[in-house]
Amino acid sequence: MEAPPAAAAEAAPAAAAGTTRPTHPTCDVKGISWCKGLQKWQITVYDVFATGKRSDPWRHTDYTFGLHEKDQAIAKHAQIKAEVDARWKRETERIAARYSWTRNLPRAPDKAEDAEKDTTYWKENERDGYRPRRVVVGKRGKEQWQYKLACHADDCTSAAAVDAAGGLMWCHRHQHEHGVSKFKKRNRPNYTQRCKIRRRGSLT
Ligand SMILES: [Zn+2]
Repeated sequence: MEAPPAAAAEAAPAAAAGTTRPTHPTCDVKGISWCKGLQKWQITVYDVFATGKRSDPWRHTDYTFGLHEKDQAIAKHAQIKAEVDARWKRETERIAARYSWTRNLPRAPDKAEDAEKDTTYWKENERDGYRPRRVVVGKRGKEQWQYKLACHADDCTSAAAVDAAGGLMWCHRHQHEHGVSKFKKRNRPNYTQRCKIRRRGSLT
């Protein structure tokens, strides 16, 4: 008896249906899997805005379609997903509109590399109840383009920097206006004073 080629051996479980148990039918679309118990395609789409919690998303499920109705299952999945995605977009926009710092800003493109430089956007933050963040795109050195928190001052497109209170609201320049800079101009010795300090060890 000839040994079967490796490829034939791999295909064997499906081909040998009847003698061995067939393998599960599979689908490349995420959210569609074969339900062995019901012998139907299982369609699952998670909808966080049904509950409002990312940790507890409502599950839309559908078990209408049988083995030879995979195309219908894919179409149904796409339809449910389009509805869920539209709700997600609508709800995150509604939340964003409550916050003054996102008004009149465009929504950030999904990918940071698609964003315009020197432009402020708003972006939802799913870890914080979808409270929007004001962002600008930036990168340091060879980093990928990524969203960074933006200064909250009108028309400012600089990235926000950590201030004296540990907040991340303003760029260095606008921190001075709000009195939260770590580098307090008034308290900081000027150049001549610094030279004196260096020479004498203190200013007085
Ligand atoms: Zn600023």
